[in-house]
Amino acid sequence: MRQPGNIAGRMRNAYPTRIEDEYQQELAARPSRAGRLVMARVMAAIETAIAEYKAKAQEERAAGLREDAEVPYDPNRALVLVQRALTGAQVGYTSTVGQINIDAVLQRARAVDALATRVQVELAESVPGIRTTSDPTVGYVLQQAWARENVGLIKTVDADLFDDLATHITAAVTKGQSTSALAELIQARTGVAERHAAFIARDQIAKLNGKVVQQRQQGLGVKRYRWRTVGDERVRDTHRAHDGKIFEWGKPPPGTGHPGQDFNCRCFAEPIFDDEMLDDSPDDTPEMRAAQQEAERRVAERAAARARRQAEEVARVAREAAATSERRAAFMRELEREAQRAQTEALRRAQDEQRALAEKLQAEVNAALNAKPGTVRLSNGATLAESPDGKTLTLTLPDGQKRLVSLEPA
Ligand SMILES: [Zn+2]
Repeated sequence: MRQPGNIAGRMRNAYPTRIEDEYQQELAARPSRAGRLVMARVMAAIETAIAEYKAKAQEERAAGLREDAEVPYDPNRALVLVQRALTGAQVGYTSTVGQINIDAVLQRARAVDALATRVQVELAESVPGIRTTSDPTVGYVLQQAWARENVGLIKTVDADLFDDLATHITAAVTKGQSTSALAELIQARTGVAERHAAFIARDQIAKLNGKVVQQRQQGLGVKRYRWRTVGDERVRDTHRAHDGKIFEWGKPPPGTGHPGQDFNCRCFAEPIFDDEMLDDSPDDTPEMRAAQQEAERRVAERAAARARRQAEEVARVAREAAATSERRAAFMRELEREAQRAQTEALRRAQDEQRALAEKLQAEVNAALNAKPGTVRLSNGATLAESPDGKTLTLTLPDGQKRLVSLEPA
């Protein structure tokens, strides 16, 4: 067995941290987008319910049917509007910002596999005499299966969030809770889904990384590995017990499986380059030394290329971040405009209804004045009576209150 130097350190640095961070952000951004859509639509629905209820209460007060409105809205009416808002938000989300880009998910799997392949081949190359062929198409089935599974998980997180929001919002509206309480509720439930999505992203990248490392090591002829933990206090006891021990790829350790397969496992497999993987030619031949020099030269070349790629990648990420924050700001402005529009519309409808009611009553009063003398009953239950001398008009409200109106010119 001949192990290259600092193999554990090199593998620890080769974990796909950046891919995991990006995937985590991508998945956590989904509930956050859905939550903002639900927030805008539900708030507009509640504003409508409040405006309708205010107009109705005013109408009833004018008719003397009630003293004042103590609740912000009618829960039954609000529930109808909120259900419609939730359905609208879910349909809107699924067909626009919530669409799942399967190619982008598959791209993550390819990136994880590419990194694992490069690192494992480089490790093998740094051992003189080790066979270093690697078939890049080997990972295809694994990548496809992972992408399919992840699309399913993303859909489930989305559906669960909409179900969860519907349950909680329905209960809150039934109790007649305020708009601020509802807004807080939507934010809190969205936050739970964001954390869940981030957890899934971390767990999925770790599992995929564990599997592609296994596939690439086995592809290079590695039969055994040494279990390595990341060595911090979060490592589980069962995994710490494996640390430094040698396992066979053909026989997963019971209970834990291979590194990375347990929930949130950050352990990794250090390949063991057994003597059977070496060429038969003896050490220290000129060919062997040349092979070693060639291996070292290739490792150095790859390191330089990697540094270049990383610099390019940093520039690309910075450019993308600028574009993304611009798109996000535009999206938020659009949501605000939508909420504003719904609110304005609700207020305008309530005002129109009040104006129509006032006009109707005015018409009835005019009719009563023109058809003197006598008593006229208005549609809201009040009566208008003209005095026999034609000088005053008595308005009797349904609760018995009276008001005198002089008909003489002032
Ligand atoms: Zn572990």
